[in-house]
Amino acid sequence: MSITRSALLQAFDQLLSPERFKDYGPNGLQVEGRGEVRKIVSGVTASRAFIEAAVAAGADALFVHHGLFWRGQDARVTGWMRQRLGLLIGHDVNLFAYHLPLDAHAELGNNAQLGWQLGLVVQPQRFGEQELGWLGGPGEGLQFGSVEPLARHVEARLGRRVTAIPGDGRPLKRIAWCTGGAQGFFEAAIAAGADAFITGEISEPQAHYARESGVAFLACGHHATERYGAPAVAAHVAGQLGLVHEFIDIDNPA
Ligand SMILES: [Zn+2]
Repeated sequence: MSITRSALLQAFDQLLSPERFKDYGPNGLQVEGRGEVRKIVSGVTASRAFIEAAVAAGADALFVHHGLFWRGQDARVTGWMRQRLGLLIGHDVNLFAYHLPLDAHAELGNNAQLGWQLGLVVQPQRFGEQELGWLGGPGEGLQFGSVEPLARHVEARLGRRVTAIPGDGRPLKRIAWCTGGAQGFFEAAIAAGADAFITGEISEPQAHYARESGVAFLACGHHATERYGAPAVAAHVAGQLGLVHEFIDIDNPA
């Protein structure tokens, strides 16, 4: 089975509704390649290593969370940008990228999929900028009396070390999360009544906020927390349209 590039764009747009978000870069088709698509390769970031691996795997279209273009970025096509664009154009492959719409999708997005990976029960309430933060609690059979068991649980599920700042030692019943570089959501999570906040990265202020508010903070990796949305969406759309899909994970310690 194959489908046209524009039909594939329409399917992604229909599922992810990019028009609902104010984002840091363009969502949708970022680099135009061949007109017919048989195979989609998904990944977290359109890095050179990912593009090379996807081309080697026979991709007609790449589907990623972090595309090539961001607001405020140097617009010159030099260095890494020249290399990545050169590979995409040279191999005539399409690059689709969805940032916030991919974080937010209710079942297939990064936040939904991370919650599912961690065994968290999702509450309907959202918080933070553009309602991107999620709230929930420990699911069936899980109980976190303090930050330690939650940190060990996340480490086991994501396969990497986490940086955990304990709060005041209260049991962690209400857990907030937002994937990637969402450390700036911590205060909104505290205001939303969270006992702990899970995200990808930590900056200097969050350690103090955790100590002073009593709410635990866990930095679990930008890449590690955003590894699940892109393959979930790409597999869903590929299944819908009868296309082949493969996820390629290029590990990133950040
Ligand atoms: Zn990200």
